[in-house]
Amino acid sequence: HWARICARLQTEVGEVEYRTWLKQITLGPVDEDEVTLFLPTRFLRDWVRGQYGDRLNDLWSAEIAAVRRVELQVQRGTPARAASAQGVAVDAPVPEPAPPVVAEIRNDLAAPLDSRFTFDSFVVGKPNEFAYACARRVAERPSSAGFNPLFLYGGVGLGKTHLMHAIGSELVRDGRVSVAYMSAEKFMYRFIAAIRSQSTMQFKEQLRSVDVLMIDDLQFLIGKDNTQEEFFHTFNALVDAGRQIVVSADKSPSDLSGLEDRLRTRLGCGMVADIHATTFELRISILEAKAQASGVPVPPKVLEFLAHKITTNVRELEGALNRLIAHAQMFGRPVTLESTQEVLHDILKAHDRRVTIEEIQRKVAEHWNIRLTDMSSARRSQAVARPRQVAMYLSKQLTSRSLPEIGRKFGNRDHTTVMHAVSRVTDLMQLDSAFAEDVELLRRMLES
Ligand code: ADP
Ligand code: MG
Repeated sequence: HWARICARLQTEVGEVEYRTWLKQITLGPVDEDEVTLFLPTRFLRDWVRGQYGDRLNDLWSAEIAAVRRVELQVQRGTPARAASAQGVAVDAPVPEPAPPVVAEIRNDLAAPLDSRFTFDSFVVGKPNEFAYACARRVAERPSSAGFNPLFLYGGVGLGKTHLMHAIGSELVRDGRVSVAYMSAEKFMYRFIAAIRSQSTMQFKEQLRSVDVLMIDDLQFLIGKDNTQEEFFHTFNALVDAGRQIVVSADKSPSDLSGLEDRLRTRLGCGMVADIHATTFELRISILEAKAQASGVPVPPKVLEFLAHKITTNVRELEGALNRLIAHAQMFGRPVTLESTQEVLHDILKAHDRRVTIEEIQRKVAEHWNIRLTDMSSARRSQAVARPRQVAMYLSKQLTSRSLPEIGRKFGNRDHTTVMHAVSRVTDLMQLDSAFAEDVELLRRMLES
């Protein structure tokens, strides 16, 4: 089985990725429903789990249907093959035994909690402090008035799942309450499976027996009316019985169009907490915390560089840092700005800042001191028309938008107008060096 899975992974992820990460895995015990895989360092373990954990689970259950969990563990002494093959020292010794990967939950409906996602490992800053405080509060005193349900929302990779697991782990550790955490997707599959096997009563009872129910990524239920209905009833039963509900979604209850009105209304009745996009400061703090935890020195310049480049998603930010650290460990080289650019080449390329047409219009209008609305107005005087042409020219140069798309953004002008503007500006730059300098300056400002 393992050989087949390896071959499969190799084709899926490509030779380089495979050799760097996955080849380090050695097969451990295969029990009835659980497979253990070993990795030589904690870092590799976390990395492989983060990047390939789900895939490994899927591949194993495709091989052996009974396998329900793939456990990744650190085992010292397993060869770090990619490194030793090149004659480089393996990596720093792993000081302490690996922490348990999952926390126990007393409900076989629920997904395991990730023990890395704790309140302690969550870095708090302006954008998430309110959500953090609400989560802490619920973990301390579940079902208190005003905090039930707790609705956490925000963009991808901003820490919703992290906070939910943190609540769960905290409560499970106390051992006083039973907690069930699952994604909305899982909820749906379980529900459908229960219908198929005619065990919906059991499913309902199980769900309604928990003290705290957490459903992650509720937006998944949009358009799934039957599952929504079931969730709505579960929700009411639990809240009426004084149990705590925690829900996450990518939008606020009122913006989750496609959810039934009565469900949306109830979701908004408790505490609604927004996790805002990260700020540069928060990204730096997160990187500092993670770098420090790894024990590998990462220069502040590198952290700043990453925080500047990767702005939308903490998961990606973390993934980039992990890759740097693993690379440094594996090849025994320090992390530098140069090595960062090399190691993260592909990630950085994907995060190259893309300029938008709106930004171009704003900058150009500012530069020539005209109103932004004139970018789309019908006015034809040269004082307005020339900057507009420059903005069209720069839009063509700096974005991947097509001529008709650009035209639409400039007051629904025709693509031939844009084409004309591009050639006009090109000609003018040849003729008028002061003008050419202006345009070049704008381009540099927009690109930086
Ligand atoms: P979401 O569920 O909102 O998409 P996650 O909770 O899965 O995001 O977070 C993505 C990754 O980023 C996780 O590894 C998480 O630990 C990390 N992360 C997000 N926000 C923070 C934070 N404030 N401090 C530390 N780690 C964070
Ligand atoms: Mg999530």
